[in-house]
Amino acid sequence: MKPLRIALSKGRIFNETIPLLAKAGITPVGDPDSSRSLIIKSNQPGVELLIVRSSDVATYVQYGGADVGIVGKDSLLEHGGEGLLEPLDLNIARCRLMVCGHPGTQLDEPQHRFRVATKYPAIARAHFASKARQVEVIKLYGSMELAPLAGLSDLIVDVVDSGATLEANGLVPLELIAEISSRLIVNRASLKTRQQPIANLIDKLGPKD
Ligand code: AMP
Repeated sequence: MKPLRIALSKGRIFNETIPLLAKAGITPVGDPDSSRSLIIKSNQPGVELLIVRSSDVATYVQYGGADVGIVGKDSLLEHGGEGLLEPLDLNIARCRLMVCGHPGTQLDEPQHRFRVATKYPAIARAHFASKARQVEVIKLYGSMELAPLAGLSDLIVDVVDSGATLEANGLVPLELIAEISSRLIVNRASLKTRQQPIANLIDKLGPKD
C-alpha cells in the first residue's frame, strides 16, 4: 500500500504544523530543518511528508502528487481550489490578505487606474473587479513592499501579520480582502481510495472539545 502523502511548505506553515501532526501521532524522522530531502519519512510507515513551495501545495494535491496538503487560504484562493476538498481550518499561520499602499491613498478615486503589484494576481483582479475599480496587475514573486517605493506600482496586495514590514517601508494597510489561516486540503480521488487514513487524519487534526 502506498503511503499517505501530505504536501506542505517549509517555514511558518511547517513549523506550526509539526506540533499538530505530533498530536496526531505523526513525527518526522530525522531533522527536517537541516534535511535537503524533499520527501520526509515519518515514524508511521504509512505517512510521508512532501516538501513543496507554498504556491505549489494545492497543485500537488489537485493532480494527486500528494493525497492531502496543508496550505494557506491565500494560496488556495489564488489556485482556485479546482479538484480539491477543504475539510478543515487548522487555525494556524493566521494573517490577513490586504490591499496596501502609501498613507492617504483613496481607493475609490473615480476614473483612476491603479497599478497593483502582487504575487496573487487572480485574487487581486477578482477583488478590484468586485469593487468595479480599474486596475493593472503586475505579478511579482517577492518583496512586494518595494514596488510602491520604486514607483513600480501604486498599491500592493499581500499578506500582513504585524504590519511591521509595511511600516518599515512607509506603507499602510488600506483594505481587507480576506482573513487567512492554513487549511487541510484533500484530493477528491484520494478521499475515495484512502478514505480511512484520511478520515483518521481529519479527526486527529480537527478541533477537540
Ligand atoms: P510563504 O512560504 O512565505 O509564502 O508563506 C506560506 C504561507 O504562510 C502563506 O501562504 C500564508 O498563508 C502564511 N503566511 C505568510 N506570511 C505570513 C505572516 N506574516 N503571518 C502569518 N502567516 C503568514
